[in-house]
Amino acid sequence: MAKQVRTLVTGAGGFIGHHLVNRLKDEGQWVRGVDLKTPEYEASRADEFEILDLRRYDSCLQASRGHIDHVYNLAADMGGIGYISTSHAEITRNNVLINAHMLEAARLNGVTRFLFSSSACVYPGYKQKAADLTPLQEDDVYPADPEPGYGWEKLFTEELCRYYQRDYRFDTRVVRFHNVYGPLGTYDGGKEKAPAAVARKVALASDGDEIEIWGDGRQTRSFMYIDDCLDGLSRFMASDYREPLNLGLSTMIAIEGLVDLTMAIAGKRLVKRYNLTKPQGVRGRNSDNSRLLRVLGWEPSIPLEVGLEVTYRWIENELRNTGRLRVTSASQAA
Ligand code: NAD
Repeated sequence: MAKQVRTLVTGAGGFIGHHLVNRLKDEGQWVRGVDLKTPEYEASRADEFEILDLRRYDSCLQASRGHIDHVYNLAADMGGIGYISTSHAEITRNNVLINAHMLEAARLNGVTRFLFSSSACVYPGYKQKAADLTPLQEDDVYPADPEPGYGWEKLFTEELCRYYQRDYRFDTRVVRFHNVYGPLGTYDGGKEKAPAAVARKVALASDGDEIEIWGDGRQTRSFMYIDDCLDGLSRFMASDYREPLNLGLSTMIAIEGLVDLTMAIAGKRLVKRYNLTKPQGVRGRNSDNSRLLRVLGWEPSIPLEVGLEVTYRWIENELRNTGRLRVTSASQAA
């Protein structure tokens, strides 16, 4: 009988980490989840779940103890564009500590493979000035000009992973996520990302109300549904590829299009009001999946309208269950 893989997921109380624990349990792995908090919307299926602050080195040693084979290091201080544009010192300090300590603790505890969750925020600003930009390839990252704070920290940790490979023969994987969305993700409080924020605003609005859009709405992004993200993570972890790899949908949409799609799903017509004083991030961003296709023979493919429908219904239901959305007789009948 094959030995059961023992896996540590850091950030297991968060959006991607929680979904990943479910996926790894479905695959028959033994899983330890670690986070500052338990998952918000449903219980974790991890075999062990520990509340630890991974900025501390002793917590990282504790998290990776006991013959762990694989680490998915997803713990990070992060959030939507509002949060990452205004908290550079805090985000950078917290994430440098988590990642440097987790790498060293995992190495000393004999972990055999370590995946670091990087981000499309490592790509240089000068390549993302047009809404219809050329999709970003992995090698576009240098000369460096990443997102201040969050992006610099991700790029620094990518380099640290490379040094650990070279100096210690420690087996690392670096994945660059491009906007991931889906149910069971933060949709309120300032750390939510665009699809969840738009879904919440649309769900709470009545037909004919105004909806506020950050920027002029013409900035573009690509959005990957969580199921594609999990498939990509499994395939990448199983591969022997050690260079950074994009993981994102390669279909781009303007934020305004995201709002239109969400309104269509909700069956509402809202008046768009553009708030040009709010941060909107880079002008355009999209994933070039040539390397992903070459390395894994696969790429994300779940269309935005399919994933967004599931996500919108989940957020709408959450708002209803928490009493923020009045149950009308029409929606009761539906
Ligand atoms: P998330 O915020 O839902 O999850 C991150 C988790 O890390 C949270 O539960 C948080 O409590 C935990 N954490 C923060 N500080 C910690 C600490 N000191 N000790 C222990 N746990 C701590 O975010 P997510 O969307 O699930 O993202 C997971 C990873 O993927 C992160 O590294 C993030 O930077 C990266 N990423 C995500 C996206 C995306 O679109 N979701 C895009 C690019 C990169």
